[in-house]
Amino acid sequence: MKSTLRDSAAHVFVDSVDAPVLGDVDSHHLLRVLRVKSRDAVTISDGFGKWRSCVVDGDANVEVTSDVVIEKSPKWQLTVAFSVVKGDRPEWTVQKLTEIGIDEIIILAPTVRSVVRWDAGRANKNIKRLRVVAREAAMQSRRVWLPKVSDVTTLAEVSDTFIADPNGVPVDASHRTVAIGPEGGFTAEEVSAGKGVVSLGETILRAETAAISAAVLMSSYRNKGS
Ligand code: SAM
Repeated sequence: MKSTLRDSAAHVFVDSVDAPVLGDVDSHHLLRVLRVKSRDAVTISDGFGKWRSCVVDGDANVEVTSDVVIEKSPKWQLTVAFSVVKGDRPEWTVQKLTEIGIDEIIILAPTVRSVVRWDAGRANKNIKRLRVVAREAAMQSRRVWLPKVSDVTTLAEVSDTFIADPNGVPVDASHRTVAIGPEGGFTAEEVSAGKGVVSLGETILRAETAAISAAVLMSSYRNKGS
């Protein structure tokens, strides 16, 4: 990551880096929560690879201070699909997957052993909230490519996915999409429906720990470039 991004007082997404305007929520966050001062270096991004430096005055007006930089998308895309778990753990999982650098996050429709089931209304509301969580986490972690949080998707619809199961092979660079089961695990039929089966280690992990482990392992191969 470039030091300008890493060292910025804040990083925020805007619709256009050519004519940047801060939204009300982001203005409040920058000025009142992070207490950004008028000469602090801030970075802005469109979430699609473009970013630049700027300063923000006390009325949230943006003055650009650098040219636009265009970052290439990651050399391959990484996806984690996970079954819904209880309470605020889906939010926590999306936040961490975003920080790690996952490109697409898929919430799985209930599988055979799912306990937590969202009806359509709840699913819409929760997915909207998870998109906000991902955007906030992407700002915090200085990403310039926003992750996609997909609509609720059935396991069968997740293309080219490997199934996480302790009986699988260790994760390597060929694994770019991994699906994590519910607390009760996937059934044998669900396990065999994927492209293959990957192990995340010798111990049985909670579903959210498994999602984070899969993300860390897959991204370590991408970061190495192998
Ligand atoms: N009740 C299941 C059992 O005893 O086998 C445990 C399910 S675990 C809490 C939830 C999900 O996390 C699993 O369906 C699997 O996808 C994933 N998981 C947990 N530990 C794993 C491991 N060591 N390797 C691969 N996947 C794992």
